[in-house]
Amino acid sequence: MKFGGTSVEDSTAIDQIAEIVKARLAERPLVVVSAMSRVTDTLLAMAAAAGKGDRDKALDLCHQVRERHFNTAGELLGTGLFTELHSEVHSEFDSLEQLLRGIVAVGELTPRTSDYVVSFGERLSSIVVTAAFVARDIPATLLDARQVIITDGQHGRAIPQVEEINHQLQAHAQPLLAGGRVPVMGGFIGSTREGITTTIGRGGSDFSAALAGAGLSAERIEIWTDVDGMKTTDPRVCPDAHRIKIISFDEAAELAYFGAKVLHPATVLPAIEKNIPVLVLNSSNEGTRIVARTQKSRSLFKAIAAKPRITIIEIVAARMLMAHGFLARVFEIFDRHKCAIDIVSTSEVSISVTVDSNEAIPAITADLEKLAYVKFSGRQAIICLVGESIRERPGVAAQVFDAMKEINVRMISQGASEINMSFVIEESDVAAAIQRLHARFFNDLDPEVFD
Ligand code: ASP
Ligand code: MG
Repeated sequence: MKFGGTSVEDSTAIDQIAEIVKARLAERPLVVVSAMSRVTDTLLAMAAAAGKGDRDKALDLCHQVRERHFNTAGELLGTGLFTELHSEVHSEFDSLEQLLRGIVAVGELTPRTSDYVVSFGERLSSIVVTAAFVARDIPATLLDARQVIITDGQHGRAIPQVEEINHQLQAHAQPLLAGGRVPVMGGFIGSTREGITTTIGRGGSDFSAALAGAGLSAERIEIWTDVDGMKTTDPRVCPDAHRIKIISFDEAAELAYFGAKVLHPATVLPAIEKNIPVLVLNSSNEGTRIVARTQKSRSLFKAIAAKPRITIIEIVAARMLMAHGFLARVFEIFDRHKCAIDIVSTSEVSISVTVDSNEAIPAITADLEKLAYVKFSGRQAIICLVGESIRERPGVAAQVFDAMKEINVRMISQGASEINMSFVIEESDVAAAIQRLHARFFNDLDPEVFD
C-alpha cells in the first residue's frame, strides 16, 4: 500500500490512512509512504540555498519543516509516545541542520549530498507514520528503505538493482510480515551497496512500492492518491467523463505522456512484469486497476487525452527529401538542441514534426533552414485516443474523423503502437474536439470497464 504526499500531509490525513491500513491488516500489507506534501521541494530548496551560501534561508526552511513534523506528530500521538519520538525526530533534524551548515562551509552542493538532504523527507514521514500507526494499534515497524532499495550510484536518478532488492526484501521485510508486523518504509530513497543514500527520481515512491510488491510477490499493489483513478478524459473539459475501472499497462503508458498525472506507468512496470495488478485508489476505495492485459471490451477506446503547447515544424525540401541521410541530418539538429520529437509525418517533399513548444525553436529553425525551407506553427495540440480494442478493427479512422468533421486536422499518426491514434489540431479546437469524440465514443459503455 503506497500513500503519496497528500495522504500523509497532516495529522488528519495520517489518521485516515491508519484506518485504511487497519481495514487491510488481515492481508498483511507493507506500507510505503512519500514525504509529506511539498517537503521534497522544500528540502531541495534548502539544499540549493546552502549550496549558494545562503545559510539563513537554508536553516529557516529546515526550521519550518522541523516544526511541521513536530506539530503533526504532536497531534497524532499521546504524550508517552510523543516523548519517545521526540528525541528521534530531533536528532534527525539536528543532523540535517549540521549537513546544511557543512554544505555552506564547503560552498558546494554535490548530487550525492543533495540526495542525502532530500532523503530526510521520506525518512521523517515514515518515522512519524510508523509511530502514528502504533498509537492506533497497528503492529507497525519502521523499515529503513536504504536497507532494501539497493541502487547504483547515479544520484538523483539511481537505478534500482532488482536482484539485490529482492534479496534484501527477503532478509528484512519478509520476516516482519511473517511475524504479523506491518513494515512501513519511505519511498523514493535507497542506497548503494556501499551504504550511500540515493534517490530514484521525482515521484519515485510509486516505483519503490512496485519494487517492494514485485519482490515480495504481493497479490496486488495499491497506490492511494487524492484523485479517483484515471478518467476517460479531462473532466474539466468534459464534465461527463467516466472513471476507467480497468486499463492495460500499454494503454496507461500511452496516456502517461499526456500528463495523466495519476501515476507514471513506467514506475509500476516491475509489478506488471510479474503480473501483479496495480490499483490506483482514492480514499473512497474506488479507482483504476492497471493490469498486464485487459479483455476485449465493446468500447473502442479507453480514453481521450490532449496535450496543448505543441509546435508543428514543417520542413520542405523538394529535391532533398529522399536523398539518403537527409532525415538523419534533420534529426541530428533536434538532437543537438536536446529537443524531443513526438509525431512525425512525411510526404514526398516535406517532413512535419511536432515538439513541445520551447524556447529553442527559433534556433532549431535557423539550423534547419541551412538544409531546407522551414515553417513553424505554435499553439497546436495533440489529441490522442487510446484503446486496445482498435487493434485490427476496420473503420476506426473513419469514425474518428466523422466525429470531427468541422475541425481542421493538421497531422495524423496511427499505427505506431496499434492502440493509439493521434492527431494534431489547433489549441483553440481542443475542447470542441474532445467533447465531440467523447460524445461519439463514450455513450454506450461497458460497465465492466467504466463507471
Ligand atoms: N517525495 C518524492 C517526490 O516528491 C517522491 C514521491 O513523492 O513519490 O518526488
Ligand atoms: Mg506522487
